[in-house]
Amino acid sequence: MDVKELCGLSDEIWGYAETGFTEYKSCEAMIRVLKNNGFEVTEGIAHMPTAYVAVYGHGKPVIDFLAEYDALYGMNQQADVREFCPITNAEDTGHGCGHELLGAGAIAAAVEVKEYLERTGREGTVRLVGCPAEESGSGKAYLARDGFFSDTDAAITWHPDVWNRVVTGSSQSCISLFFKFHGVSAHAAGSPHLGRSALDAAELTNVGVNYLREHMLDTDRIHYAYLNVGGKAPNVVQSEAVLKYFVRSKNNPECLELTDRVINCAKGAALMTGTTVEVVFDEGLSNTINNFVLEDVLYDAFEKCGVPQYTEEELQYLQSFKDTYSVKNILSDLPKTETMKEEIRRNAVERPVSDFLLPREHNDNPEMGSTDVGDVSWVVPTVQINTACFSIGAGAHSWQWVAQGKSSAAHKGMLKAGEVMAAAAEDLLEHPEKIEAAKAEFRERLGGETYKCLIPDDVMPHISNLE
Ligand SMILES: [Zn+2]
Ligand SMILES: [Zn+2]
Repeated sequence: MDVKELCGLSDEIWGYAETGFTEYKSCEAMIRVLKNNGFEVTEGIAHMPTAYVAVYGHGKPVIDFLAEYDALYGMNQQADVREFCPITNAEDTGHGCGHELLGAGAIAAAVEVKEYLERTGREGTVRLVGCPAEESGSGKAYLARDGFFSDTDAAITWHPDVWNRVVTGSSQSCISLFFKFHGVSAHAAGSPHLGRSALDAAELTNVGVNYLREHMLDTDRIHYAYLNVGGKAPNVVQSEAVLKYFVRSKNNPECLELTDRVINCAKGAALMTGTTVEVVFDEGLSNTINNFVLEDVLYDAFEKCGVPQYTEEELQYLQSFKDTYSVKNILSDLPKTETMKEEIRRNAVERPVSDFLLPREHNDNPEMGSTDVGDVSWVVPTVQINTACFSIGAGAHSWQWVAQGKSSAAHKGMLKAGEVMAAAAEDLLEHPEKIEAAKAEFRERLGGETYKCLIPDDVMPHISNLE
């Protein structure tokens, strides 16, 4: 494995900073590296031009590594600069979620396992699945809906973070919708009785939803944004308005039920204002089905590989970014573990970066937030890890993550993730009984329930419509 090539790949993707379903240059760069390393690549899978699969080996088991590589809007930021400082003359996008590292780290794991298969002559297939549009677009949900993972025995992925851990706990289901209100424009003073305000309908929808919040579960979340307020003129009755909503719940049935209640608020608001409302589905993410067997396999691998080690210079670099947050804020967002609480607290106060592996713990607690990895976990036993790539306390979707994305510390976290995931895959290849145990747990957890993608069959992959 060529470490320089992989770090260079991550930096190259950082530079492209392409958002969901536009990751053409990022894909080209990754495919180039995969082909260089002897993988066979198929592009444009599941109706997504920026989705691809790279395959090496033959027969069973089939182990998939999931790569992400999309960037975020509003995250333009220079590398290594300790304050918010966008790159001039660049698009307002950036890798605020570390997906440049995520993609290259998954490739590191796949290349390592390929070399292992080559060395041992063992039977087995390693696939690197290029999954576009995680931040917005639900790329993996379309892959799962398309039956892409039907031959996969285990799916392994990771996410850059500020802690080293094996992820446990579930993520939320999430449905995203647009409400497009249509009314009638009129002179707001001269003939207001002839106007029907789409903006009023949008506002009343939000008022209704804000009252609804009192009567939902603590594990539910609802967020909205105005995409169109109908113009800038107060003396015009606004005839068009658009809202975008995210509705999140613990699992898919609860999410669908809560979404219906939100839709009723929009319909009620339309009725009150004499306007009409179009409900347009945008995207849907399923909750995560944990797999404790795979979590243990990854934990064993992580213990064996150890956590990243840093030079004095890297520690100083990380400290300078840690100093952009208050200790009070850092302490307000520590990992929720049953044990090692004091060690975690001390680490967060005293050190610039996390330098140990969080405890081996399993739970099904719902974590706030959603990912399309959830959809994969409904169709194949799936596991995720985190490695420390950024200064302690730095939050995802921040300029601090973008700025630190090309640092040698971030590269170390990425390579460590690749190493741990590859070691776990090799363990699975050598111990098929562990795969069987993971599958047995998977079947037991589903209890006969089958995956039903939250995205309706007639909705195809698309860039989120901002109109
Ligand atoms: Zn993100
Ligand atoms: Zn992310």
